Amino acid sequence: MTVLDVRDVVKVYGEGDTAVQALRGVSLAVEQGDYVAIMGASGSGKSTLMNILGCLDVPTSGRYLLDGTDVGTLDDRRLAIVRNRKIGFVFQSFNLIPRMSALANVELPLAYGGVKAADRRRRALAALDQVGLADRVEHEPNELSGGQQQRVAVARALVTAPALLLADEPTGNLDTKSTADMLDILDRLSAAGRTIALITHENDVARHAKRVIRLVDGHIVDDRRRTHVDEPPPGLVGLR
Ligand code: ADP
Ligand code: MG
Repeated sequence: MTVLDVRDVVKVYGEGDTAVQALRGVSLAVEQGDYVAIMGASGSGKSTLMNILGCLDVPTSGRYLLDGTDVGTLDDRRLAIVRNRKIGFVFQSFNLIPRMSALANVELPLAYGGVKAADRRRRALAALDQVGLADRVEHEPNELSGGQQQRVAVARALVTAPALLLADEPTGNLDTKSTADMLDILDRLSAAGRTIALITHENDVARHAKRVIRLVDGHIVDDRRRTHVDEPPPGLVGLR
């Protein structure tokens, strides 16, 4: 089952002399259960691609099918529904709502989706438990560490059981320990069959993915599946 099917997508910002070609014909298919890291230098088009994959923006030309739905045919209202049902977002800056408990933050996408209160609470508690925060559900974001806030964000992304977990530099604002915790959670989600697309410029983060795609100037220049012979485990690096 193909979750993401991107065909010759072009994105141009602005027009005339000031037009910027952020994506210059990107094609990409991602199957259910894959874990893809999208890498590239600043300005290479990563966030633009993420915004399109996440239905936050539409391509200038080309097609994009998400879980079998051609999103180019949807009006704004339907696009918002697809976004809510099919995609879980994790951002570099967490984007939690301040002065709302972790539980209420995680319930939010379910509230938008029209899920009843008791069901919302049960599902949000289960999602927080999955990321190891069962004992912090009543805490507000400013009472949590960065790593804990990002785990709340992952719980919020997962609570709708989306077809795709989409993360833009999810470890970009985290310290080493919290980064390791986050990568561990993503590894476990991947092992459990989740489809994950993650944007990063760090090799140590991309190393966790099953497949690594590199963008240069709005083109995919490399797309390869990682195999275990690619790299020795970190502890053996000095021995090779
Ligand atoms: P990355 O996330 O890899 O740093 P972006 O997708 O943010 O790259 O940007 C790709 C290119 O598109 C850059 O040249 C950037 O300046 C330009 N760009 C991004 N967003 C906009 C926008 N809203 N308006 C105009 N240009 C933009
Ligand atoms: Mg970016």
